[in-house]
Amino acid sequence: EASVEDLSKSFISKRRDVHAVRSIDLSIRKGEYVVVLGPSGCGKSTLMRCVAGLERPTGGRVRLHGRTVFDQSAGVDVKPEARNVGMVFQNYALWPHMSVEANVAYPLKRRGVRGQERTQRVAEVLETVECSPLAKRLPAELSGGQQQRVALARALASRPSLMLLDEPLSNLDALLRVSLRSELLRLHRELGFTALHITHDQAEALEMGDRVVLMREGEIEQSGTPDEVYTRPASPYAATFLGVRN
Ligand code: ATP
Ligand code: MG
Repeated sequence: EASVEDLSKSFISKRRDVHAVRSIDLSIRKGEYVVVLGPSGCGKSTLMRCVAGLERPTGGRVRLHGRTVFDQSAGVDVKPEARNVGMVFQNYALWPHMSVEANVAYPLKRRGVRGQERTQRVAEVLETVECSPLAKRLPAELSGGQQQRVALARALASRPSLMLLDEPLSNLDALLRVSLRSELLRLHRELGFTALHITHDQAEALEMGDRVVLMREGEIEQSGTPDEVYTRPASPYAATFLGVRN
């Protein structure tokens, strides 16, 4: 459903070269919820941005829904809008001057969904994230958790086959973070999308992932089910990062 092969991204400048992503291979099955875990600066966001098309990889290939969307050697580079992915970020990124319903409707409008169908899809998806009563409000009139639900609704409205979630819960307080974890998993069960979710929180990764991918300095250190990585960490780094005591 989504895969990257031999994917690399370097940032080259006069002052220093950063190899943010180094020859990564990763494939995600349809409907799978994959969590990428790792410390600050290990390349998680860069990897996701390459999948989304927001960052141009230095080398390798990206395939989504059976189609090559990036291939360095063949010169293929499909625009982000045409990749059918939904994105949610840490800072919600709602448009401040638009109401909740206008925020959710806007990407649909850009995709040519019109009239009654658009109105209905906006209402449905707001219902799904339990935000229907907030439809007429502005983002500034919402709590952090409500804003993040609306950001989720906006990403889900165009029914993406892949959801990219970059630390979607990191800005929320501890209680809300835990309740939104289960809410996200409920949405995943109900709607059946494929997910690539980034976090630096071990508990979040172990609770949410069908599979956990641990990164270290631009590479994959270990990948497996939460149970596998927790009970059999592949290295002292993995053990420390996963919080395994031994
Ligand atoms: P965090 O958990 O802090 O969000 P991350 O794992 O998402 O970290 P990235 O944002 O992918 O890390 O960054 C990986 C590396 O690439 C870092 O060393 C970062 O400084 C570097 N980097 C990211 N974006 C750029 C850029 N536009 N120009 C130069 N270097 C960059
Ligand atoms: Mg990041």
